[in-house]
Amino acid sequence: MQTNFSSAQLADPHVAESEKILRKCVHCGFCTATCPTYVTLGNELDSPRGRIYLIKDMLENGRPADKEIVTHIDRCLSCLACMTTCPSGVNYMHLVDHARAHIQETYDRPLLDRLTRAMLAFVLPYPRRFRAALRLAKLGKPFIGLFEKLPALKPLAAMLKLAPASIPAASPMASPGVHAGQGAKKGRVAILTGCAQSVLDPAINDTTISLLTRLGVEVVVPPGEGCCGALVHHMGREEAALASARQNVDAWTRTIDQGGLDAIIITASGCGTTIKDYGFMLRLDPAYAEKAARVSALAKDITEYLASLDLPEPVRKPGTIVAYHSACSMQHGQKITRQPKELLAKAGFIVREPREGHLCCGSAGTYNILQSEISAKLRDRKVRNIEATGASIVATGNIGCITQIASAASMPVIHTIKLLDWAYGGPKPEGVRDESLIAAE
Ligand code: SF4
Ligand code: SF4
Repeated sequence: MQTNFSSAQLADPHVAESEKILRKCVHCGFCTATCPTYVTLGNELDSPRGRIYLIKDMLENGRPADKEIVTHIDRCLSCLACMTTCPSGVNYMHLVDHARAHIQETYDRPLLDRLTRAMLAFVLPYPRRFRAALRLAKLGKPFIGLFEKLPALKPLAAMLKLAPASIPAASPMASPGVHAGQGAKKGRVAILTGCAQSVLDPAINDTTISLLTRLGVEVVVPPGEGCCGALVHHMGREEAALASARQNVDAWTRTIDQGGLDAIIITASGCGTTIKDYGFMLRLDPAYAEKAARVSALAKDITEYLASLDLPEPVRKPGTIVAYHSACSMQHGQKITRQPKELLAKAGFIVREPREGHLCCGSAGTYNILQSEISAKLRDRKVRNIEATGASIVATGNIGCITQIASAASMPVIHTIKLLDWAYGGPKPEGVRDESLIAAE
């Protein structure tokens, strides 16, 4: 694609980066076929190619974002299916991240939208605040029907719908410390405790620590870790995202300096995509660029790390039929497609892949709150495809997808690590119904 940026504009390294990306796009439109919003809405401006044109126009003319571009960029899930499809290697992720930061700086959103976004950014990345908000949400649940009727309050209704009926207790295993591996030492890793996942399902990381230590891997929960920054990053709040990135880079660098690390283990693929991008996000910060690149290189999804170990034979071979849902951040963001399915199959599960596996489930960070109607359409489409597999369990590696799919599916949605842990001698995962175990034991 031809571009016409002035040399003054290109002096801004963010613009220069976006110009490089724009020039790679050859307008072929292959990406439109796999874009969930284009597939759902049928509007070119809600396709990757359409959004690329809008972003180019906004940046080239150096003008503030307007209502039209905000509408279409807000509808983008950042699922990155377009990046998997694109034959020209267009880095849509970095382009849309730049556009979102530009929107945040230059566009005055309506008051309620601003308040909703500010509230999400204030609450979600902080486990204590999020826990308190979920308790409060119980009081609001009776008013969901009323809020749904008022367009400006739809995000509030969506939030209340997603809030779980009960909140698990905080896990002591998530406190900073070292969990020693059993037997001969096979490795040393840090684990990201994260934010929303640690409140909604602390058992995911507990199970990860339990399985890794049984396999002989020492697991460090470093002091000073926090949210990876993805939630605010996708809202265009660049400074907040970079502050989270720096905090984590500092925490993990201290751990590396105190005994080395083979990997930084991440159990939510949405966080993994962002942490693997820290090297890029902090490239312009001389104090952090090198450390951030080192952290990104060490970041591994738990399935990626397990696949690199020499695993023993499973203790039990469940034989249960599992539909594997590959989160967008797993398959498109991190290009991890093979390992989770192979690990499940090796552990004795019968793995089925739903049709249209490339399409997002509609969770996408805060998307299911801010764009609840499109999100619900994508969720229902995803659930129909999952149920058509005949599986009795859904396995996936991202808490956002678990919450989203579980809100409509008739079967339990379980994190992949819990199923693997069960096969390798751990307890039956909570939520697995007895009838799905008949074939197992
Ligand atoms: S990130 Fe997803 S929703 Fe956004 S343009 Fe690409 S394919 Fe479409
Ligand atoms: S597939 Fe790639 S090159 Fe083709 S229009 Fe989409 S982004 Fe541009």
